[in-house]
Amino acid sequence: MTTSRVAVVTGAARGIGAAIARRLAAGGAAVAAVDLNTDGAARTANAIAESGGRAIAIGADVGDEDAASRAVERAAAELGPVTILVNNAGIIRDNLLFKMTSDDWDAVMNVHLRGAFLMTRAAQAHMIEAKWGRIVNLSSTSALGNRGQVNYAAAKAGIQGFTKTLALELGKFGVTANAIAPGFIDTEMTQATADRLGVDFEDWKAAVSREIPVGRVGTPDDIAAVAAFLCGEDAGYVSGQVIYVAGGPRA
Ligand code: NAP
Repeated sequence: MTTSRVAVVTGAARGIGAAIARRLAAGGAAVAAVDLNTDGAARTANAIAESGGRAIAIGADVGDEDAASRAVERAAAELGPVTILVNNAGIIRDNLLFKMTSDDWDAVMNVHLRGAFLMTRAAQAHMIEAKWGRIVNLSSTSALGNRGQVNYAAAKAGIQGFTKTLALELGKFGVTANAIAPGFIDTEMTQATADRLGVDFEDWKAAVSREIPVGRVGTPDDIAAVAAFLCGEDAGYVSGQVIYVAGGPRA
């Protein structure tokens, strides 16, 4: 990756987003770490700077139209035209269908789908101008269906259709769009699910690992490695794909 690339990574305060931000920065990109949690985003940006990279932190709610476009414009003003976007910000509001509130439905759609749409619409102008761009969206194996996640599964399946359509519309401008669909990754999100289910996180990971062909749960760095490839110069002929990164062929 050349040093001129500027990447915006949403949900970069922790977990998968923080790992992707660090990895892109290590590859030479200047990174805007965007998150609702401004302090967390600043920790990610500081860690990048301490490792010799270039990064800024931006506090923003990706589901807010003004905040999303301000975040992209600030990244462009401080770092340069945004030509890499990773839509990673996410939340879960799990419940069985009959107990799920419309607020839980709307909250998940608002961050995953509306957030990815608003951030991408804002960033694509820079990519088209540059005639080069990379968009990576975080889907999930839950897109294939997951009990207790009717909202999240719908959003993550929606991300796949969103991504394929971006690939169709933006390809002629040198912009690729791909989705990564992680399986079980060890982050605060999966810790929160363990808490909700009332199971010990370590016991749960051990049990899940026995069902995963490679024999372990994933790490944020497993996802960051794939994101770095998809955001790089070498991935220009890969577009509209959904790459399952789940330690095996199934969820
Ligand atoms: P995480 O640890 O919960 O981190 C998500 C980050 O996104 C948090 O810092 C959160 O900030 C931020 N965020 C939430 N809503 C936001 C908003 N409206 N605007 C800006 N930032 C927002 O999650 P993760 O496990 O790293 O997951 C990252 C992505 O991968 C998500 O899209 C998730 O759905 C997907 N994924 C994860 C797994 C897994 O097993 N962990 C599997 C498949 C897919 P706050 O702390 O302020 O809420």
